[in-house]
Amino acid sequence: MKARILDGKKLALTMQGELANDVNRFVDQHRIRPGLATILVGENHPGRLYVKNKIRACEAVGIHSVHRELSGKCSTQDIVEVIHRLNQDPTVHGILIQLPLPKHLDEDTIIETVNPMKDVDGFGPASLGLLAAGRPRYLACTPYGVMQLLARHDISTVGKHVVVVGRSNIVGKPLALILVQKGIDATVSVCHSRTSNVANFTRQADIVVMAIGQAEFLRANMIKPGAVVIDVGMNRRADNSWTGDVAFAEVAEVASAITPVPGGVGPMTITMLLYNTLQAARLHQAQVKI
Ligand code: NDP
Repeated sequence: MKARILDGKKLALTMQGELANDVNRFVDQHRIRPGLATILVGENHPGRLYVKNKIRACEAVGIHSVHRELSGKCSTQDIVEVIHRLNQDPTVHGILIQLPLPKHLDEDTIIETVNPMKDVDGFGPASLGLLAAGRPRYLACTPYGVMQLLARHDISTVGKHVVVVGRSNIVGKPLALILVQKGIDATVSVCHSRTSNVANFTRQADIVVMAIGQAEFLRANMIKPGAVVIDVGMNRRADNSWTGDVAFAEVAEVASAITPVPGGVGPMTITMLLYNTLQAARLHQAQVKI
């Protein structure tokens, strides 16, 4: 294998160690502990394990967490009421709603009910709007994690052509908005399911980010030699193991750097959620002082 492995698991541990120190300092200074609320809707939610991991990660860095669970038969109004209570709760600085929600619920209304100051997931309309305006408050956790993986491995984005494949509100779109910010200075192409010939774009990229949820879609002949490849995709194989959107073994022969799945972007997403929660507590504290 020629490519350098961008080890998200290792980096996440390092960053969570740094964050634990920052959280301690914050608690010493302000006598309050950053708090995250998680909301899970539905008995057999596919994200149950993610929520458990997020709660465990909170504990590891000293962030207080509360968890609310609602039946899969609840109404939009039931969730809105839970969110209203958490919006009012001064011990909760961030609110995370584990997606996807059951189909009968109004996802937009639910996401928009979260106080924008507590939108630590960073993909509510206020957070996305501020980012688009060049004044980001919270970066969506997965794109934020991708940026940290690049920065902490000294991979510059300045003047680079970055091709983002996928345009969801939680990954592709906010990532593209981050990459075009001044100071990050990438030239960005965004591909989606209606793009004709995705390979025409990925072959021109200095950095390719795959976020489509299609197992091993990106093949070695779809990148240029030496490209950096970031794989956001998480796809279950028949044997229950995970694979990304990248055919890892063959692409690693051509790329200069690549993230594994699992152990690449996933652990970074959780880490950046913790960072955003501390940031939310800092912003809350700054408002209290005014
Ligand atoms: P969505 O299903 O919301 O979006 C998928 C995007 O990919 C859409 O924009 C879609 O296009 C595009 N797409 C689908 N098929 C193709 C194709 N063949 N060619 C080009 N574009 C295509 O997914 P998410 O953004 O939520 O997640 C993407 C992947 O990332 C999933 O595997 C998910 O599990 C994973 N993920 C991983 C995270 C992590 O922490 N590692 C966090 C979040 C997600 P269109 O808009 O036209 O439909």
